[in-house]
Amino acid sequence: MPDTDCIFCKIIAGEIPSEIIYQDDEVMAFKDVQPVAPHHYLIVPKEHVATVNDADETNQKTLGRLFVAAGKIATELGFAEDGYRCIVNCNKHAGQVVFHLHMHLMAGKQMGWKPIG
Ligand code: AMP
Repeated sequence: MPDTDCIFCKIIAGEIPSEIIYQDDEVMAFKDVQPVAPHHYLIVPKEHVATVNDADETNQKTLGRLFVAAGKIATELGFAEDGYRCIVNCNKHAGQVVFHLHMHLMAGKQMGWKPIG
């Protein structure tokens, strides 16, 4: 069920604009509005799951699809071989600000580790 207060549910429903780069029956990917890398996309399940803490076995297939989509996008956009980073933030200590589970897909520059302060 979509969450009527969720900005990513609104993007998925086409109610607010975004630069969609990929979608299939289970997930959608669009450009992050505040990119921190030359390539920075958000891959989201079309079903509303707020955080990793809220995921259960019923979401398992869809959440696996996030990784499949990441690999497809990386190949399609030409950064699969150079490499990329996939991050999922959960709750306050990770800095999650949008409570619709999403994977950050970042690429296009050499990244250090630790990546974030
Ligand atoms: P997180 O800290 O993991 O919750 O990251 C949320 C991300 O969503 C941030 O990188 C934001 O820049 C991004 N974001 C917020 N609103 C939008 C939007 N309308 N379209 C695309 N990206 C967004």
